[in-house]
Amino acid sequence: MSNDILVRYRAVISAIGAAAEAASRPADAVTLVAVSKTHDAPAIRPVIEAGQRVFGENKVQEAKAKWPALRADFPDIELRLIGPLQSNKAGEAVALFDVIESVDREKIARELGKEMAKQGRRPRLYVQVNTGEEPQKAGIAPQEAVAFVERCRSEHGLSIEGLMCIPPADENPGPHFALLEKIAAEAGLPKLSMGMSGDYETAIGFGATSVRVGSAIFGERDYG
Ligand SMILES: *Cc1c(COP(=O)(O)O)cnc(C)c1O
Repeated sequence: MSNDILVRYRAVISAIGAAAEAASRPADAVTLVAVSKTHDAPAIRPVIEAGQRVFGENKVQEAKAKWPALRADFPDIELRLIGPLQSNKAGEAVALFDVIESVDREKIARELGKEMAKQGRRPRLYVQVNTGEEPQKAGIAPQEAVAFVERCRSEHGLSIEGLMCIPPADENPGPHFALLEKIAAEAGLPKLSMGMSGDYETAIGFGATSVRVGSAIFGERDYG
């Protein structure tokens, strides 16, 4: 079981290297965010021991239950929140995460600004863009994203490092990755979080600086 995880982990690392090389980019230009949501510490620990340091979780409560003990053993872990944040959890998110990739509305930007000032802790931040303009999906509309990034800075004192997107499940992801890259360039942002298990190699071709890979490493998630 954990051996399967390590085999898949190494395969993902080498696929990232190959995709970067194919795109004439250095392999270390792409950070692998290992998405460990729904997986418990015994599944995660071998991946840490194999050298992985950057992990993604989509729920504040789940991350809070799992990570403090792992981090006590591995203090150099970087933990990223990649799922929607409720405003009443902003304080916990600022305390726990090193990177929050899901800044997706004014209210969250305001709460994060307040909590960061209060706690004196400044997680790095990404704005999530709803590139497919899907009504059920979180994220800022593409045409509003540049202005939103600017307001994060001017009104909430937040420094935004990059953009994140999750393309529609049933569409070719390439145009969405290209759109995110274009918006980031307009906003002057250096980082692009895009690409998941099914499309991370494509995303690297479009300039992803981090890819969020879950099931290709840990196996299918069991929500039951
Ligand atoms: C779960 C999740 C991922 C990882 O998805 P896989 O298809 O399992 O790689 C990536 N990004 C976000 C925002 C997620 O919620």
